[in-house]
Amino acid sequence: MSHGGSTDTAEPQRWIVVGGGVGGLLAARRLAAAGHDVTLMEADDHVGGRISRVTVDGLPLDAGAESFATRGGHVAALLSELGLADSIVHPERRPAWVVTPDAAYPLPAAGWLGVPTSALARDLRRAIGWRGIARILGDRVRPVRDVDDSTSLGELVRDRLGERAAERLVAPVVQGIYSRPLDDIALGDIAPGLGAEVTRRGGLMRAAAARRAASPAGSAVQGLAGGMASLIDALAADARSRGVTIALDTPVGALENAHGAWKVWTGAEEHRADGVVLAVPRPVVSALVPHVAWAEDRQVAIVTLVLDAPELDSAPRGTGVLAVGNVSGAKALTHSTAKWRWLADRTEGRHVVRLSYGIDNARDASEHALADASALLGVALKEAQVRDIERVQWADSAPAAVEDREPVRGLHLVGSAAGLSGIAAIVAADAASGLGEAGSG
Ligand SMILES: Cc1cc2nc3c(=O)[nH]c(=O)nc-3n(C[C@H](O)[C@H](O)[C@H](O)COP(=O)(O)OP(=O)(O)OC[C@H]3O[C@@H](n4cnc5c(N)ncnc54)[C@H](O)[C@@H]3O)c2cc1C
Repeated sequence: MSHGGSTDTAEPQRWIVVGGGVGGLLAARRLAAAGHDVTLMEADDHVGGRISRVTVDGLPLDAGAESFATRGGHVAALLSELGLADSIVHPERRPAWVVTPDAAYPLPAAGWLGVPTSALARDLRRAIGWRGIARILGDRVRPVRDVDDSTSLGELVRDRLGERAAERLVAPVVQGIYSRPLDDIALGDIAPGLGAEVTRRGGLMRAAAARRAASPAGSAVQGLAGGMASLIDALAADARSRGVTIALDTPVGALENAHGAWKVWTGAEEHRADGVVLAVPRPVVSALVPHVAWAEDRQVAIVTLVLDAPELDSAPRGTGVLAVGNVSGAKALTHSTAKWRWLADRTEGRHVVRLSYGIDNARDASEHALADASALLGVALKEAQVRDIERVQWADSAPAAVEDREPVRGLHLVGSAAGLSGIAAIVAADAASGLGEAGSG
């Protein structure tokens, strides 16, 4: 990926990028690198969107995204381009746990999306017992029938691996990634061609093993010393150095296309542009461009606790917990200081714990956070141990990407506006986009 100097130069045009999250910043620097005149308009008083900091007990912590998927190597390439390669860090080698109302067990290490890739591991026995193991072995011998990308993941997992493995292994992982039940996800939502692969390889565990083998050795996610918001600092500095004007506190309220040119309104002020990039959450896209439909407006809340809790020094639930059933109002917990060494090195013995709440429980999240943290960590934490607590609410991402990323000529959707979820997917799409080069936009 190269943005240096002149690329495939198009006629310089005036572009407005709406939204200053990672998607908008990437688009803005790409357009500026192609020689265009670019203004990025951000509603908030800072850029970053869902990759932003929150200060808790004086510690600057990631308020939203805290890691990136390593698949494809696109994020690592971007980070080295931005001079951040030396800040890349691996999470500690501890398992994540699953906690249900009547069990707590580490997630088996050998797996892909919670689907076990080996039936022999001890941690698998702890999670689903001998009966569960006997059931999943059927996946190795029974022929696969009628599976394609439209098959529901829930149906497939229950059929191939049984109810116990579905509930105890796959559902917690999938829920943690996609924030929705197994039955609401089709195989094609996870990876196009997955249905055919399960058929070709003769089983779900074999397909999972192949997917896992195809990903590079090492952890599936990495982070940045200093937090993921350092990526935003570097992207914003890079965009500015390429000539991008970043206008903060500038919410865009309306767009209009008139004879191929764009009018963009911020309050009563009108701005003109040849091209517009929308890099805002999907509900904002449909508010600005009504014929781009978007039914859902899901919210998540992250509650961060900073605790004085020596009983957490041993990391009783590894790097964190995926919650199953009604064990807690939170759907997941990250024990950040057990997951990230760089962070533990900065907290002088304090523990940082993050709880994620889905839409149903987002409202009362901070009220219940301590009780939820206690239930998920298996430790009775007391009010007096809480040094500080912060709650941040976000629009959640959806798994289905949008095919048409230029629904109207000159109007480009990037990042979550294009239905992409996660830093890796957004960076990969940017690298492949050719935005602003001759022939585009
Ligand atoms: C709690 C949480 C945890 C996550 N954890 C991870 C993780 O660990 N790893 C990972 O890869 N991904 C993670 N994600 C997903 C990842 O954060 C997002 O996919 C990504 O940050 C989205 O970037 P974006 O630029 O598309 O959108 P956003 O980051 O949402 O940026 C959109 C921007 O548009 C601005 N805006 C909104 N309306 C207007 C308007 N009218 N005018 C101007 N500006 C406007 C917003 O203020 C915002 O700055 C997480 C998401 C959440 C919510």
